[in-house]
Order: sequence, then C-alpha cells, then structure tokens
Amino acid sequence: MPRLPLAPGSTLGVIGGGQLGRMLALAAARLGFDVAVLEPEAGSPAARVAAHSIVAAYDDPAGLEALARLSDVITFEFENVPAAAVDRLAALGADVAPGARALAVAQDRVAEKTFLNAAGAPTVAFAAVDDAASAAEAVAKIGAPALMKTRREGYDGKGQRWVEHAADAPAVFAALGGRPVIVEAAADFVRELSVIAARGRDGAIAVYPLAENHHEGGVLRRSTAPARAPVEVAAQAERIAHLILNGLDYVGVMGIELFELPDGRLLVNEIAPRVHNTGHWTQDGCEVDQFEQHVRAVAGWPLAPTAALARVEMLNLLGDEVDAWTRLAAEPETRLHLYGKREAKPGRKMGHVNRLSPL
Ligand code: AMP
Repeated sequence: MPRLPLAPGSTLGVIGGGQLGRMLALAAARLGFDVAVLEPEAGSPAARVAAHSIVAAYDDPAGLEALARLSDVITFEFENVPAAAVDRLAALGADVAPGARALAVAQDRVAEKTFLNAAGAPTVAFAAVDDAASAAEAVAKIGAPALMKTRREGYDGKGQRWVEHAADAPAVFAALGGRPVIVEAAADFVRELSVIAARGRDGAIAVYPLAENHHEGGVLRRSTAPARAPVEVAAQAERIAHLILNGLDYVGVMGIELFELPDGRLLVNEIAPRVHNTGHWTQDGCEVDQFEQHVRAVAGWPLAPTAALARVEMLNLLGDEVDAWTRLAAEPETRLHLYGKREAKPGRKMGHVNRLSPL
C-alpha cells in the first residue's frame, strides 16, 4: 500500500489514454506527480503528456505488471475496465482508486440501480430481463413506453431502444443482441442535470454546483453551470451525492447524472466512477477543477473548495467542429481545450470550449 498522502514526485497510474486521462495527467503534473498511462492504442492523447506510456490491452498481464511496478496509486478514466484487470492489480498489491466495488456497480445497469435504491438515491422503476420470453411481461409491469438498455457496455445512448408496446419487447430484445437488458420506466423529466462530487481517503466529501446538460443523438453537446436551480434542488443533489459516495466507500471524483422531474424531485440516471464530461466547466469556472480534485482524492491530499467563480457554458467540439480553433482562440472569455487527437472522425470528441460570464 502506498504511503499517503502521496508525495510530489510519486507516480500516478492511469488506465485509459483518452481525453479524460490526458486532462488527469496534466492536473497530476501540476501537483508534481509523474503519470504512467496504460492504453492499447499507441500515441494516445494521455500518453503524449505522460512520463510513462505502456501500450498494451487493458487486461494484458505484462502491461498490468508494468503499470503496477511504476505506479504508487492507480486510477482509471473509463468505467469499463475489465474486472480481471482490477483483480490482477489487487493480486499485485496495487492500490486502485476508486475501487473494484464502484466499477462493478457502474458496469452493470441493474447492479447500479439496485445499489442506488438501497443507498436511498431514487431512480426510475426498472426490471432485469435475461430472455425474450420475459421481455413483454417486464415492459407490461413497468409500463410502456419503456426504455430497454443493455445491462453492460452501453454509453453515449448506444445499446438502448424505446419499447412502445409490450408486444414489441421480444423484437427489441433481439435487436439489442439478445443480451441481458434492463427495462426502465420513462422518466418524465423537465431537464437533465448532473453533479460532480469527490470523496477523499478520509471520507471528506466535496460537491460542485449542478450543471444543466443538453444531449444530441445521445452525445453531450452543451453544459451550463452553475445551473439555475432552487436551493431545494441543489440540496437534494448534494444529499444524493453523499448517499452514493458514502455507500460505496468511494475515493475519487464521480459524475452523477440526474433527471429533474416537474415537481422538482431528482432521480439518478446513472453514475460514472471517474471524471466526467459534464464537469469540464470546472476547469475555468472553479478554483480547482474536477481533474485536480480527483488526483487530490486518490493521492490522499485534502479536497479543494468547489464554489463557482464564474458561470460557464461548456460546448463539446465534435468531429470537424474543431477546425474552428483559430476563431475560437480569438474569442474573448472563451477557453479552448484540445485533446490532440490526430483524426477528426464524425461525432468524435476533439476538444471543448468553456465560455465564461459573470456569476
Ligand atoms: P444513458 O445512456 O442511460 O445515460 O441514457 C442516455 C440518454 O437517454 C439520457 O441522457 C436521457 O436523455 C435518455 N434516457 C435515459 N434513460 C431514460 C429514462 N429512463 N427515461 C427517459 N429518458 C431516458
């Protein structure tokens, strides 16, 4: 186990080499840490700003051994880290934060909602379905229209379809690949919000102000923060964050996606045991952003204050939208964050801007 708080000069291991890993690495470097990145793709966005790069599959035993040898603490930038990799790291005596429990819960939509409800964090009604034969019954019980989602490996709106009538359920189940699914009641939400929260090694919790999020085609397009919301709504989000983070004995930053109902109640849509796209506004809207906050938490440092210093509109730059970089760089009160990806495929997250205005 590492000696905590981790001293500057120590090495933070990061599983995953995308933009979240890159921004984590930059924040870690600011605090004097070296970073080792494990990522199968050579020349990844994170590897290009890290001291050490291990190019190997996430579950490659030699790659994981190299990561464990180099790192004092290991974290990750995505939730689909194979359970076998986490077990392997544990067997090597590595310290992984957030831990295996948070990953297991976040990787399976049924385990996630079961945990959330047990912790006292409300969600939509749901049912687990393992075969076509029980799909119609589940939709009839939950009420149509219902949303059917694969239990595992869905992201950015992929692996999910609406079921308009219970009779359609077996066909939708087949169209999703015949894999285990969750059937969710339709949330009658007025808007989507999220909250970024951190829990330290000592159990201290720090919660950022709410963000309001707009998606297109299942992909986040825009967040505004702090979201204009009644104090009761903000207080609910804070309470929910405490229940979830304490319930998982969590260490690190978590993104919690919420639905706001017409009566002001919040439901949890899903949790991401990592830094989150809807938290990018904190880079320019707060004293200490979600990336440094995550590094502080896993390194056993004190958490930083989370109050907003500015209002931020965060816009993702998807695909060739990034080509507008000269224009964006010339805009006043606009901070440009580019991920250094070599190729701008359609819909690919290439960067983002944070547009600032006074609170
Ligand atoms: P997810 O992949 O679970 O985050 O879902 C992607 C998007 O689908 C969400 O951001 C919502 O806009 C929508 N969505 C997900 N679950 C529900 C639900 N139970 N009811 C209504 N809309 C949903």
